[in-house]
Amino acid sequence: MNDTARPDTKILADPFPDARRQGRLLAAECRACGHLFLPFGPVCPRCWSIDIGQRQMSGAGEVATFTIYRQSYHPDFPAPYVLALIALAEGPRLISNVIGCAPEQVHIGMAVSVRFVPRGDQVLPLFVPVTSPARNPEIQGDTP
Ligand SMILES: [Zn+2]
Repeated sequence: MNDTARPDTKILADPFPDARRQGRLLAAECRACGHLFLPFGPVCPRCWSIDIGQRQMSGAGEVATFTIYRQSYHPDFPAPYVLALIALAEGPRLISNVIGCAPEQVHIGMAVSVRFVPRGDQVLPLFVPVTSPARNPEIQGDTP
């Protein structure tokens, strides 16, 4: 058993780990109605079609809502940290962490962009403020 906290891809049936390693954020796209959604699933939640493809997202979005965890429940998530619902510019929403700023700076409507962060044998899509002054050298894809 590996103690590094990360999604269990066997449970989530995550079809996109290679895309994230390549720095691409993908969403499921219904070929019948065009609906974009996350997490990936075999059925469109809007029209129930099973004709599901994928589309690359820009990685831009905003904080739809969030909470600040002030107690650690796992050593890989030292408190405080931000758990947020991110609304991507293209429409899908996903739960992630906001990093690169103090938790108290996060607010609803805050513009964020994706950063791909290695964790164990996976790469996770986390989000940083668009105008983040703090840069983490361990974060991939952070451009000056
Ligand atoms: Zn659909």
